[in-house]
Amino acid sequence: MNKADSERMAGILESMGYRKALAELEADLVLYNTCTIRDNAEQKVYSYLGRQAIRKRELPHLKIVVAGCVAQQEGEALLRRVPELDLVMGPQHANRLETLLNQVESGQQVVATDEQHIFEDIAIARRDSSICAWVNVIYGCNERCTYCVVPSVRGKEQSRTPEAIRLEIEDLASLGFREITLLGQNIDAYGRDLPGINSNGRRTNTLTDLLHYIHDVKGIERIRFATSHPRYFTDRLIDSCAKLPKLCEHFHIPFQSGDNEILKAMARGYSIEKYLKIIDKIRVKMPDSAISADVIVGFPGETDDQFRNTLKVVEKIGFDQLNTAAYSPRPNTPAASWPNQLKEEVKAERLKELNRLVEKIAKQRNSRYLGKVEQVLAESINPKDSKQLMGRTRTNRLTFFPYEGEKGHLYEPGDFVDVRIDQTRSFSLSGIPVV
Ligand code: SAH
Ligand code: SF4
Repeated sequence: MNKADSERMAGILESMGYRKALAELEADLVLYNTCTIRDNAEQKVYSYLGRQAIRKRELPHLKIVVAGCVAQQEGEALLRRVPELDLVMGPQHANRLETLLNQVESGQQVVATDEQHIFEDIAIARRDSSICAWVNVIYGCNERCTYCVVPSVRGKEQSRTPEAIRLEIEDLASLGFREITLLGQNIDAYGRDLPGINSNGRRTNTLTDLLHYIHDVKGIERIRFATSHPRYFTDRLIDSCAKLPKLCEHFHIPFQSGDNEILKAMARGYSIEKYLKIIDKIRVKMPDSAISADVIVGFPGETDDQFRNTLKVVEKIGFDQLNTAAYSPRPNTPAASWPNQLKEEVKAERLKELNRLVEKIAKQRNSRYLGKVEQVLAESINPKDSKQLMGRTRTNRLTFFPYEGEKGHLYEPGDFVDVRIDQTRSFSLSGIPVV
């Protein structure tokens, strides 16, 4: 989601006439789009800002902007910490960058962190890829997971209308994009804040309805969405994904812990049994699906047995990919003030043990591709080997292959390529195009 916000802000800067500088320490304007999900992400920005503050003493025209979730969390306090800053702006203000910079031009130091209705973008995002695009469908989050800073920095849920979303996707298709990923912190909440109920009392603006509504946009061949919440993930959604041919066989559904007591303390609103049922249903309807998730170890009060329950779930499900993290206390979250915090060494040890298991399982899962022919959407040249292209399978496995196929056909980014997989690793695959 931060990447998508960065692309939108870069687009606004370009429309204002800014051009990308050759290096961070040569720019006339620097904008850091920050993350505060864990403490180590937050600390990074302070070291970057220190360097820019020193530059500014020599170069008074230099503009320094802090955007994103650290900006929202710290607000005015950031100005006290780094008085050289020109603009501090929360994530809900991303679309307002031009207005805010104009205020800076008139000589003010600006802090923009008030709750905003997010207006439709007029600026065109400067996207990093010309093949795959992010499309925001819902901003913010109304959940209250006890460890999580997101609701306090990204604000209340705000869904975009299906019409605005479809228009953006049609534009992307006309520019040559082939794959889209619909984005929301809790994408299953899409439409809760929009009107629309049918005669059976069912909401008509759910994520499932949205998928049907956008599915036929010509030119877009692959559709993904993230992040799913097990509490709201429905059978109807799984059925639709199985039916709609452009929906890719990959689901990112964080489970956070394999222990019911911990899930309760996290206020996640589901049991691990419910989670396992969802995965079973997906595997019945779409047997080849890849499953990925996020998980936290060392949540306050987590016992060794409770941690082992997480390991058991990881083993049982056999995730294709898992984002793992040690619990990090965040400002203004309930769990941060609980007395039963674990020692850093215990969290680090558990994280290490989990990561070893994740790597082993991902390797096993990837080995199922050996010898198979997979459809890969070529996204770019491999930056580490210019003789190769790289892209992803429908199941989101990163795949490398030469751009000349077995029968001499030459491929380029944007092509769908049938690749015979001849090497598998924990986090990527390699192969050769069959034609
Ligand atoms: N909206 C998504 C994820 C949001 S944050 C969801 O509900 O799953 C991305 C991931 O960061 C989370 O899934 C969680 O695993 C991790 N995370 C969030 N807060 C954290 C914290 N305080 N400490 C460690 N990891 C955290
Ligand atoms: Fe954070 Fe996700 Fe929970 Fe929302 S649903 S509070 S973003 S972890």
